Amino acid sequence: MFAQLPIFQKLIRQLQRVPYLASKNVYRVAMYFLTTDQKAIEQLCATILEAKKAIQPCQHCFNWTEAGNQCSICSSDKRDKSVICVVETWHDLFAIENAGNFKGLYHVLGGALCPLEGIGPDQLTIDRLVKRVDDQIQEVIFATNPTPEGEATASYIWSKINTRPLQISKLASGVPIGSSLEYMDRVTIGKALIGRRPF
Ligand SMILES: [Zn+2]
Repeated sequence: MFAQLPIFQKLIRQLQRVPYLASKNVYRVAMYFLTTDQKAIEQLCATILEAKKAIQPCQHCFNWTEAGNQCSICSSDKRDKSVICVVETWHDLFAIENAGNFKGLYHVLGGALCPLEGIGPDQLTIDRLVKRVDDQIQEVIFATNPTPEGEATASYIWSKINTRPLQISKLASGVPIGSSLEYMDRVTIGKALIGRRPF
C-alpha cells in the first residue's frame, strides 16, 4: 500500500523506533505531522534538539538538570544531605517527589540489575552511589521497585555499603509486590516512606 510513498515509510520506521508509541498510534502521529503547519513542526524539531543538548543527568544523583553540574535537589539548601533515597528511574524520583514528604537527596540508578538483559552493575550508576556514601551520609533508603530485579539490585548495593556506619532501610510493605513506584498514588508512597524499615 505504501510502495509509492518511500519517504512516508521512512517516517513510519523512525517513529516505530520510539518506545511507548503503540504501533496503531504511529500512523496517527505521522498524520498529525503531515497535516500540521510547517512552522509548528519546525518548532517541535528544534525543541527536541534543544532539550537533547541542554538537559543532562546531574553529576551527583543523575536526576535531570538544565543547570550544568548539579540538579535543583542537590543544590538546594533546604534538603537534608544526610539521607539518600535510591530509585531505579527518574519516573520513580518524580513519584516520590510528588508525594511531598521526602526532603533528602536521591540517587537514580538508571534501571535495575537484570543479567538476562545484559544489565549488570556497570550499566547502572551503582559505583557512583557507593562513592557518594561517605561520612556525611547517615541513611540510605532503598526505593527500588518490589520486583525480583529491584530486590536483587538493593541486595547488591547493600553488600557494597553494609560495613559502613549508617542506617540502611527500605520502603515499607505498603508497596504492592511486582508493581512500579511510578504508578503508585502519593498517599501510598508517603506511607511507605514514613513506615520504612531496616533493610
Ligand atoms: Zn542531583
